Amino acid sequence: MQIISKDREIYDAVIVGSGATGGWVAKTLAESGMQVALLEAGHRTTEAEFTEHLRPYDLKYRGQSPEIARNRPIQSMKYACRESNFEWFVDDIRNPYTYPQDKPFQWTRGRQLGGRSLTWARQSYRLSPLDFSAASHDGYGENWPVTYEEMVPYYETVERYVGISGEPLGLMQFPDSIMQPPMAMTCGEEHFKREVNARFDRNVTIGRTAILTKPLNGRQPCHYCGPCEHGCITHSYFSSVWTTVADAEMSGNCKVLTDAVVSHVTSDKGTGLADGVAYYDRLTRAPRKIRAKIVVLSASTLESTRILLNSGDGFCNSSGALGHYVMDHMYGGVSGVLPVKESKRWAGPPQRPNGLYLPRYLNVERPHTNGMIRGFGAQMRNSSSYGSPAAIAAIRGFGADFKRAVHDSDSYWRFSLGTSSECLARYENYVKLDPHVKDAWGIPALHMNVTWSDNEMRLFNYSADAGEEMLLAAGAQDIRKITTPRWPGGATHEVGTARMGNDPRKSVLNKWNQAHDVKNLFVTDGGAFVTIGCVNPTLTMMALARRASEYLVEAAKRGELA
Ligand SMILES: Cc1cc2nc3c(=O)[nH]c(=O)nc-3n(C[C@H](O)[C@H](O)[C@H](O)COP(=O)(O)OP(=O)(O)OC[C@H]3O[C@@H](n4cnc5c(N)ncnc54)[C@H](O)[C@@H]3O)c2cc1C
Ligand code: SF4
Repeated sequence: MQIISKDREIYDAVIVGSGATGGWVAKTLAESGMQVALLEAGHRTTEAEFTEHLRPYDLKYRGQSPEIARNRPIQSMKYACRESNFEWFVDDIRNPYTYPQDKPFQWTRGRQLGGRSLTWARQSYRLSPLDFSAASHDGYGENWPVTYEEMVPYYETVERYVGISGEPLGLMQFPDSIMQPPMAMTCGEEHFKREVNARFDRNVTIGRTAILTKPLNGRQPCHYCGPCEHGCITHSYFSSVWTTVADAEMSGNCKVLTDAVVSHVTSDKGTGLADGVAYYDRLTRAPRKIRAKIVVLSASTLESTRILLNSGDGFCNSSGALGHYVMDHMYGGVSGVLPVKESKRWAGPPQRPNGLYLPRYLNVERPHTNGMIRGFGAQMRNSSSYGSPAAIAAIRGFGADFKRAVHDSDSYWRFSLGTSSECLARYENYVKLDPHVKDAWGIPALHMNVTWSDNEMRLFNYSADAGEEMLLAAGAQDIRKITTPRWPGGATHEVGTARMGNDPRKSVLNKWNQAHDVKNLFVTDGGAFVTIGCVNPTLTMMALARRASEYLVEAAKRGELA
């Protein structure tokens, strides 16, 4: 194609980040014939690192590795960071960030080829027409510059390739994906679904998850071994490592550079256009630069924003919106014991790597309820605490004491209903560079300033009450409510700090994820989000990344990005 560089040292595009979104950009651009470099801060992951078939008792420290306590105090707040896989989460000492004492923020990151697509929980839902035009519905904030209808073809492309299993419901506020057959429910879950669907105008369904139930492109259906956060030898769940990034490399047009820690975007002083990125070799800390005609940041919401903030005073920020409008989901919920048979004690598979889902029902027809806007969804599961590796790993003791503790642990089926409430986009929730703190490569760290609003707090309480009401209706006992919300960032769904919009005075990106201020610069991760909705965000991030990439390829062919 005509934009291939004659000078091979100048790439057609450089992409920063090889996770869920960067993988899509690399695949789309490389398969179109563009010569691209994919820069990844972490190491090249291999199948030798997969540990999904190890049990806690196979591990040196039985899941209590001192390395985690020493170097991953923040990362290990997340359930998925364990002795088996902690190297897929960043070292908090080498990768610091700050926040005011009274505004703690939890930032979970993965720096390796594949990013957090290796460790994510794979729940995959489309945003709805209601989410894309939320401001028109209830008057708060901004609508997206792109409609749900415009997004549908890109959702479909991504879903066909990723492979998402689930059950269609035909609800406007919870649009159906293109789906593989759903996973089956447990007896307790069937009981809960029956009771809730019969007594309330609500729907309980199996979770929609990026895990195969049928073969796809050489990947095999799930064999329910769990825990997926440790890797998957059959490639049954979606990770960019064995899908999009592999396709990009296979095209012959994508050079993957691992151990490349990008600090900032470099620009041509004459034209003001981006002309590459500067980075440090992760191992030697040697500074380097790579040149390209187009720069795409897919380093995850806050990392891409950090790179932009580091790229010069006011760079890409004529709107003043860069770093602002941080959103995450507010998790809460309730649990109880349903009137179903107790489980037999066992410690091995099968472990269905998926739960149930309760789609949003609040404020669908009307804009608000008791002064509260937006809504919540819930992820649920009815399982034995005995079978979970995380539960076993949490048991203290060694030798005979450990065995006794495992044997005596609770094995009844506890039903947990975890609510996920929408967070509003607020200017006063922001990240900026910390003037005093740098990471191990000397790159300024982020300072977070994020709190929950009154609307989120009310949704948190309302959703726990609603969960309790449903559990009681299903005959549950021993109800336990979550009373304290997690820190912002705790859902690991951070989005919004480089939001898109039609008005360059209010937004960083246009409707194609292209910077208003620098036409050959794109940000294709969650930074672009205008609202977060109440569903998990990664499917929408990937659909946006695909859409932006297709646009980029065509715009480059037309010569519009030079
Ligand atoms: C435990 C867990 C559970 C989750 N569950 C879900 C879920 O069920 N559903 C859902 O929708 N989402 C879930 N998420 C969130 C999901 O993982 C992210 O939304 C998604 O991975 C974001 O994609 P991304 O490409 O923007 O970032 P990532 O996948 O994080 O990839 C970013 C990449 O950029 C690289 N990078 C960062 N900074 C630099 C730099 N300076 N230079 C070079 N490279 C850099 C990183 O090393 C990484 O490889 C979960 C996350 C975690 C950790
Ligand atoms: S449970 Fe399924 S998706 Fe998860 S690691 Fe095992 S086979 Fe892979």
